[in-house]
Amino acid sequence: MLSNEEKLNIALKARLNAYAPYSKFKVGAVVIFDDDSYVVGCNTECASFGITQCAERNAIYGSICLGKDPRKIKELVCVADTPKPTSPCGACRQVMAEFMSKDSLITLFNIKGDMVQYKLEELIPYCFVDSDMGNN
Ligand SMILES: [Zn+2]
Repeated sequence: MLSNEEKLNIALKARLNAYAPYSKFKVGAVVIFDDDSYVVGCNTECASFGITQCAERNAIYGSICLGKDPRKIKELVCVADTPKPTSPCGACRQVMAEFMSKDSLITLFNIKGDMVQYKLEELIPYCFVDSDMGNN
């Protein structure tokens, strides 16, 4: 099991790969699976800002590209250079709700190492999920 310091260091290393020439706002993320394996992500911007992708979604989608089951993600870790630990945007919260269980852990850091933790359902209560379409 990774320590919080290890999680932060993995996210900080991922952050170094961020492609953020426009905002200069670099973000690193890590999704940790139930077997303690992990996949990293960083934000990737584009001159067409609307198709910029956040670190959190890159980590989740990247894990799918690697053949991992995103429903086995037990924790998402995120770090950015912010006064308080950074917080995922609404789009990322919705993607987390698509794949992660309501009691998944969300660990948020800033680069100084300040940390807060939430359960996913605290970050996106009453979210829209597949059962809302009558599929379950
Ligand atoms: Zn986001």
